[in-house]
Amino acid sequence: MGNVTLEHVTKRYADVTAVDDMNLDIADGEFVTLVGPSGCGKSTTLETMAGLTIPSEGTITIAGEDVTTRPPKDRDIAMVFQNIALFPHMDVHDNMSFGLRLRDFDKAEIDRRVERAAEILQIEALVDRMPDELSGGQRQRVAIGRAIVREPAVFLMDEPLANLDAKLRVHMRTELQRLHKELDTTIIYVTHDQAEAMTMSDRIAVMNEGHLQQIAPPLVCYDQPANLFVAGFIGSPSMNFVEGTVESGEIVTPGFDVAFDPGQVPELAPGDDVTVGVRPEDVYPAEKAGELANPTRPIRARTDVLEPMGDEIFVYLVLRGEDASDSEAATTEAASARGSDELLMSVEPDSDLAGDEDIEVVLDRRKIHVFDTGTGDAVCHDILRSEAMGGGHPGAREET
Ligand code: ADP
Repeated sequence: MGNVTLEHVTKRYADVTAVDDMNLDIADGEFVTLVGPSGCGKSTTLETMAGLTIPSEGTITIAGEDVTTRPPKDRDIAMVFQNIALFPHMDVHDNMSFGLRLRDFDKAEIDRRVERAAEILQIEALVDRMPDELSGGQRQRVAIGRAIVREPAVFLMDEPLANLDAKLRVHMRTELQRLHKELDTTIIYVTHDQAEAMTMSDRIAVMNEGHLQQIAPPLVCYDQPANLFVAGFIGSPSMNFVEGTVESGEIVTPGFDVAFDPGQVPELAPGDDVTVGVRPEDVYPAEKAGELANPTRPIRARTDVLEPMGDEIFVYLVLRGEDASDSEAATTEAASARGSDELLMSVEPDSDLAGDEDIEVVLDRRKIHVFDTGTGDAVCHDILRSEAMGGGHPGAREET
């Protein structure tokens, strides 16, 4: 059984708290990814599970046994790291079996395990090769094979694809998913790459500054982010954020207003300072408003920079507000850090929009997220709750 539990795990170094009161409950066979920006405590968390670091406080259990202070060799785990250190003078078979030979496994058992791992990883034809006769992807597969032959209850992987080129990384993502299915074993995976986390995991644990922000299936983190940090971190390009204030029946921002029914969304109280979040794919040119069940009123904007991506075009917009003139106020410098008067919109590649054009856009009101500006916590993910859900829990939505 490969279930892993962290209870109140904290790791302090001299002047840094790398991990702060982390609680995780990972089921046997789950693929859970720890994701967050560099320095947020992902590796330290994984190292406490591996036994490479002893937490300052808290308890770690694997398969129901308290392993908090046990050395790595006495835990039923195997690790795969970013830096693949294969022994250069040993062929693939010997590299994969090295750990088993150290532990005095008999030859027949070693051969059985290496054969099975090579088959799973589709490297049967490479077992007699030396490391310098392998490509980067093949070497990474051997490193994973070295972990597989241990037949551990839990695989711990720290950025194992980070050194591969972009194309191979995408390919290896699918390989790892297939591997997880075949091994049917718990995998706990660390990455700073939110796309990697989104595509492979049963659940992702989003961390920031040593704190767990949210642990949930990828699409729940995407559709119902727990706070501004998760909303901004998950999704590329990231969500637009615009600050505003709640008034009776509408959220008022400098560039637009969003109407809601106060009877349905009582958590939005007049006077509250809120941040409206909307993803670029939920902003539309106003002529598309007819295709949406619940568009906002048209919002006046000026197009700034356009980024054609091939399958879509990102259009940076500067909001003109209700009263602004059509002139200078609309221009801006590169809109990399979007402010409250800027929005990023994703449109189809055949769009004929150009830069420096006055247009109108609408937002899909069903896809608007509202956060408490002070605490950053999500207030609601569905301001049309009653229409979508018949009064259900916040965030869950019908597909439109
Ligand atoms: P991540 O894996 O998310 O990049 P880490 O877990 O490596 O983050 O690091 C979290 C924080 O702890 C960072 O501020 C890092 O500098 C600090 N840290 C990690 N290991 C040590 C160590 N051995 N000694 C001192 N500080 C450390």
